[in-house]
Amino acid sequence: MRYGIISDIHGNWEALHAILEYLHAEHMDRYICLGDLVGYGANPNECVGQIRSLTDRVVAGNHDWAAIGKTDISSFNVYARQAVLWTSGTLNTLNRTYMERLPLRYSEEDLLFVHATPDVPELWGYVLSPYDAWGVLRSLEQWMCVIGHSHYPVAFSWDRKEKVQVHPPCLTLQKGWKYTVNVGSVGQPRDGDPRACCGVLDLDQQTIEVKRVAYDIQTAQEKIRRAGLPEYLAERIARGK
Ligand code: ZN
Repeated sequence: MRYGIISDIHGNWEALHAILEYLHAEHMDRYICLGDLVGYGANPNECVGQIRSLTDRVVAGNHDWAAIGKTDISSFNVYARQAVLWTSGTLNTLNRTYMERLPLRYSEEDLLFVHATPDVPELWGYVLSPYDAWGVLRSLEQWMCVIGHSHYPVAFSWDRKEKVQVHPPCLTLQKGWKYTVNVGSVGQPRDGDPRACCGVLDLDQQTIEVKRVAYDIQTAQEKIRRAGLPEYLAERIARGK
């Protein structure tokens, strides 16, 4: 069983298209989307429509909730706030209704999928350090928790005895251990590599890997500018930071 796992698309149609082309060619058995379908990018309706037809295994992110008025945006920075308001005014009724029904967690095959943290996902906490990961792993009922939200691909493992270890997000998995893995962002990577990012989890090979796919950044930038979204958001996707 191979899972194609995508997160933090953020309305970037060009990035989503390139990632799905890659994953389709690699023959995934299932697709999971970890939320933040919208926000920042200029194609929220197109991206939500694509995910709706791709898979039922989708959880909500903070930008999804923000765009439909379900979460407070006072902690959002000025660019994120402008993008939320633009996205909210752009989403069609069908997509809005769909987003209202998205769950915060999804679980199958001893795996848990969530945008932020599993215990209180609606607080939109980050898992950035081994200490953060320990908070997740010690109470995790499943073997692995796959997350997004920080746009920074990284894996944490715990053998249930010693300290939590931090790894690049390409690793062989052991039974009896616990894992939390961030699969990075499709539409707005922040780890210095501007290529679109996704995860491939192979339960037969017992591996999880992050993959990078080049896409047409220029077109995505032009659309952001044409939509009147902040210039910073166009520049950011080219920097990957
Ligand atoms: Zn995000």
